[in-house]
Amino acid sequence: MTTVLFDAGAARWPDWEQPLKAALSRAGVTAELVQQAEPGDVDAIIYAPSGGTISDFAPYVKCKLVQNLWAGVEQITGNRTLTQPLCRMVDPGLTQGMVEYVVGHVLRAHLHTAGTDAARQGSWVPEAPPLASERPVAMLGLGALGIACGRALAGLGFPVLGWSRSAKQHTEIACHHGDEGLRRVLDQAQIVVTLLPDTPATTNLIDARTLGWMPRGAALINPGRGTLIDDDALLAALDSGHVGHATLDVFRTEPLPADHRYWAHPSVTVTPHIAADTRHETAAQLVAENLRRMLAGAPLLHQVDRAAGY
Ligand code: NAP
Repeated sequence: MTTVLFDAGAARWPDWEQPLKAALSRAGVTAELVQQAEPGDVDAIIYAPSGGTISDFAPYVKCKLVQNLWAGVEQITGNRTLTQPLCRMVDPGLTQGMVEYVVGHVLRAHLHTAGTDAARQGSWVPEAPPLASERPVAMLGLGALGIACGRALAGLGFPVLGWSRSAKQHTEIACHHGDEGLRRVLDQAQIVVTLLPDTPATTNLIDARTLGWMPRGAALINPGRGTLIDDDALLAALDSGHVGHATLDVFRTEPLPADHRYWAHPSVTVTPHIAADTRHETAAQLVAENLRRMLAGAPLLHQVDRAAGY
């Protein structure tokens, strides 16, 4: 019998138990889902960094899959005892949530015009916003989430400029990569969305230098990770008006400390890391599919590249 250890927090078990069992059954996977087991007996681990209890993966000698329940893996990639294949979550439900968050906040930034500002202060300034086709949007990160959000925005008519580590081609997104590519993308973008992972290479990517490449008044939307942003540089850019508005969902310290300047800044919208959540029903299908692949000796889906950190 295949033993699958659920180590994603006891409090989460009631929400996951039935979706996981149903998905395993649909995928034709016969496995015992347990919350406790002898490490040497475990074939696979369903894991979440917050709530999970395992810090030493070395005793899990039979384990051939650690399936993370979240998209971000920065809390686990540095664990040197974890030598088993690590897979991250790519869940259609999570992706749909992120598309809704990004499209909603891009539209909000797009429609936030001088006319709207004046109306809030009681003045009638009939100044309509430009069309989406006149508002270039940068999508930093063209992974599972960046591509889906970029496509949705392109479908609304926004010119979408994408940036990733490797070179890519997409019909709806003008793709760039590398340092020069980043400059070209930021130079043109009036709204910048960051959907990059937290790795040493992305830390403080949005700093005084790269903020300086953005046109004056551009908006920034960060549902990626807090470490992408040099907070002091962003606050300075917001204070000077170089950045017109920032919508921030993720922060270096979460919850965002009560005395952080972001809370009260008139040009900042704080959301409490709610852009997109893993959805049990849809995510359970990926877990079951990867367990099926593990048992069949087939390549796993969404395996993390440890060297790259995502
Ligand atoms: P993904 O599929 O792994 O895609 C990551 C993208 O970032 C890829 O396009 C990758 O380039 C690019 N990238 C990585 N390092 C880079 C670098 N140094 N320079 C340029 N591009 C780089 O990840 P995803 O599923 O789209 O998720 C993205 C992030 O969203 C997650 O890591 C997580 O931090 C965040 N997230 C947030 C929430 C929330 O609720 N706020 C929810 C889910 C996820 P290549 O394509 O060339 O590899």
